[in-house]
Amino acid sequence: MIWTVLGTIGIALATVILGVLADRRWSLLPRKETLIAAGKPRPLLPGHGPGEAAATAIVGSPGDIERLRRKQRCPRCRTEMNAIADDRVTFDDHELLVLRFACPKCSAERSVYVRRQTA
Ligand SMILES: [Zn+2]
Repeated sequence: MIWTVLGTIGIALATVILGVLADRRWSLLPRKETLIAAGKPRPLLPGHGPGEAAATAIVGSPGDIERLRRKQRCPRCRTEMNAIADDRVTFDDHELLVLRFACPKCSAERSVYVRRQTA
């Protein structure tokens, strides 16, 4: 009889411990994502985010392009990046401007593809 009671308590305890462990695991992951989401702009996966590849070029007016040129932050260390010489590529019959940036701190480089808006 006593062992049945102890066994039940043991199972209950094990369930609680497992629950706590599971909760820790679940709450740790979203916390990490929240941190990433809080830092702006978000680090983009190569070739997937807007402007990261010719296929996802950002369409904007000359003013938008100038703003983009000024506010790039390093995807690695978040230092404000320096604009370096632009490049031009033709993609899908459109001429794209490739804004290029270099990080003064960790020397990471980044390219942002933009297309001038046509009225
Ligand atoms: Zn950097």
